[in-house]
Amino acid sequence: MKGGHAMKKKPNEAKIASLVRGLLVELGEDPARDGLLKTPARVAKSLAFLTQGYRQSVRSVVNGALFASGTNHMVILKDIELYSMCEHHLLPFFGKCAIGYISKGKVIGVSKLARIVDMYSRRLQIQERLTDEIAAAVMRETGAEGVGVVVRAKHLCMMMRGVGKQNSEMATSAVLGSFRTDEKVRQEFLSLI
Ligand code: ZN
Repeated sequence: MKGGHAMKKKPNEAKIASLVRGLLVELGEDPARDGLLKTPARVAKSLAFLTQGYRQSVRSVVNGALFASGTNHMVILKDIELYSMCEHHLLPFFGKCAIGYISKGKVIGVSKLARIVDMYSRRLQIQERLTDEIAAAVMRETGAEGVGVVVRAKHLCMMMRGVGKQNSEMATSAVLGSFRTDEKVRQEFLSLI
């Protein structure tokens, strides 16, 4: 587990660019040729964006968008697009996420659920931890009675390399509170997503 809410500093893009230039040379490329001239700077910029989740906190992305609610219905947001990078190969994995929770007096703005997904996705991840982190954050922020998260994703490290399982999709789930303890709640969630 990563160290709590410690915010990482912005990466030094000039330094990343220089490392990427070295990488290109090592791969047998000529970083001075036209097509590659600006590549190191572009990769640095792109990596800074794709890892910006390190420099955000759940508190900052939710930004107070919690609203009092008398009822405790199950709220579900599904088909949340997700793009992340596997920490083992630095290759993308992408897919969809479904989040459900049963509120206990407090609901969260739906767009904030998507922002929580983005924040944790824009870090180096494994799908299992990503799923757990999203569930824990929703539980913590909303004080919900229970939370369920399901992520389905395709991993380019599987699709492009060795094993070449082009169509395999990985599914992970995390259930907390009543979603864990109450079979009926869990079934309702799974039937709705
Ligand atoms: Zn991988």
